[in-house]
Amino acid sequence: NLAVLLRARPQGAPVLSDFDIVEHAIPKPAEGQVLVRARYLSLDPYMRGRMSDAKSYSKPVEIGAVMEGQTVGEVVESRHPDFRPGDTVLGGYGWQRFSAVDSSRLWKISPHDAPLSWNLGVLGMPGLTGWWGLKEIGQPKAGETLVVSAASGAVGQVVGQLGKIAGARVVGVAGGAAKCAFVTDELGFDACVDHRAPLDPALDAACPAGIDVYWENVGGAVQAAVFPRFNDFGRMVMCGMIAQYNTAPGADASGAPAGPNLGPVVRKRLRIQGFIVSDHGWAQYPAFRAEMLGHIAAGQMKVKEDVTEGLENAPEAFLGLLEGRNFGKAVVKVL
Ligand code: NDP
Repeated sequence: NLAVLLRARPQGAPVLSDFDIVEHAIPKPAEGQVLVRARYLSLDPYMRGRMSDAKSYSKPVEIGAVMEGQTVGEVVESRHPDFRPGDTVLGGYGWQRFSAVDSSRLWKISPHDAPLSWNLGVLGMPGLTGWWGLKEIGQPKAGETLVVSAASGAVGQVVGQLGKIAGARVVGVAGGAAKCAFVTDELGFDACVDHRAPLDPALDAACPAGIDVYWENVGGAVQAAVFPRFNDFGRMVMCGMIAQYNTAPGADASGAPAGPNLGPVVRKRLRIQGFIVSDHGWAQYPAFRAEMLGHIAAGQMKVKEDVTEGLENAPEAFLGLLEGRNFGKAVVKVL
């Protein structure tokens, strides 16, 4: 059973030697559990948090344990009456080929709905994050301006396309010309700003009527540039701040204090709210999935994935995710 273990807790940016690649025994499912063979593994920014033992909303991965992650694959052996060998399931565990998981964590899904790997992106945790956060917090209305950072990524691509469906003017922020062109030409955003070029003039041009909703995926310099452009009663959905995951809290990549002056929160009556998708999102998974399948069928929800072949290449792909080298939802094809 090929697996990737956490060898060391990173100081700053993770490095390859923080991981171990091993062969270990295939686990035996206990009563109520199911043995799942992973076909695809999801790579997500939250995994950087699990590598650290800083206090958080979830427990860290122990040193020497399998890296945390969600997989999609098929049931090999079942000790629960609701699952049978051959069933396709979302919710296998970890950076490993075989996992024994509690049936309560598993979603039985149709392999015919969409390509299998999409269940980790547009139909999985990142898609659910975008759908829930926009519905419950961002609430863009027709004619409002929604700005989405990390716009070509797993969460960003869903948020922006849902914003378009809601009738908003949608402006992406992404790293580099190729990602920006994709965001406007393929995903249909109204504009996209390259965060590697000067942000202020580009945001002014892209958001002539100011910003009503900001979907925050990155923090740092992008957040600081967006903030003064909020309209009254603006909403900021605090989804993540990946630009700061490898640094001390509140500092940007250069170590300098990052973030805007918060004074206008009062004057403009802004609402800033963070959320963790696992708190409430999965309870609405069936409704989310049905709605997203409808958007996909209607051609209103395009998908871009960044597929890495082979579990042994997962560490390298994960380091790339933290540096913006992924173009689309990062998944690993488990061979
Ligand atoms: P993405 O697929 O968007 O990949 C990460 C992207 O972040 C990179 O491609 C890169 O895009 C961008 N990025 C990386 N470093 C920087 C930087 N220093 N400055 C600016 N941009 C950077 O990841 P996800 O869609 O999976 O996740 C997006 C965010 O959502 C993350 O912050 C994540 O932690 C958060 N999240 C939160 C959840 C919740 O429940 N609150 C659930 C799921 C995700 P580019 O090249 O365009 O800059």
